[in-house]
Amino acid sequence: MSDWLHAVEKLTRPWSDVLSPWETDGNGYVTVDYQPLLTMLDDACRANTGNRGGSGADPAERSLLDLQAFTLREHIDGTVRAWISHLSKGRAEKELIPAVGQLAGLLQAHHAARSITDSDYERLTAFFDRWCGRIWEIVDPPNMRKVQKPCPRCSVEWMPVDDTYKRAVWIEYRDKLADATAACRSCGAAWTSLVAMREIGIDVSDVEQGAA
Ligand SMILES: [Zn+2]
Repeated sequence: MSDWLHAVEKLTRPWSDVLSPWETDGNGYVTVDYQPLLTMLDDACRANTGNRGGSGADPAERSLLDLQAFTLREHIDGTVRAWISHLSKGRAEKELIPAVGQLAGLLQAHHAARSITDSDYERLTAFFDRWCGRIWEIVDPPNMRKVQKPCPRCSVEWMPVDDTYKRAVWIEYRDKLADATAACRSCGAAWTSLVAMREIGIDVSDVEQGAA
């Protein structure tokens, strides 16, 4: 199956992923089943639905994620419907998931009939993988923790962000703090392992609960 059809499947059908032992704290290879990404995006559009990566997000960040999910869903829906009406005389499916499958079918048919240019075909089929990535960033955001110390490189401790001040240095991780990386908003320095963090005096026990 070509890569873009694989992306279409992840958007529209249940799929699974295999986590390696280092992602499961040594519990071997574990298969994780997921809903179609578009279903996960729909869930993310509704405030305070179970969002496994978002447990560390404060309410302000939470609602920002909801807004991002909603905006992305509108963008995907609009793009899919515009291209279906461009490529077909028929009506677009009412629901988004069948409409995405409909667009994929139209692209295959037009490509086989050589009624679409190669550059349009390449450009349009690339949408699906991009959407997978953007949905995943929303449904599985990294956990963020602020570090209660100034940056060891630039000495900045607080940074103006929007209308408020935030800690300059923060730690980001997906599943385990042991895999965390740290970065500074002020000078852009980054430390990509616990060893590197320890060398500059950041201990993960210094981190504060709550969003960075
Ligand atoms: Zn810094």
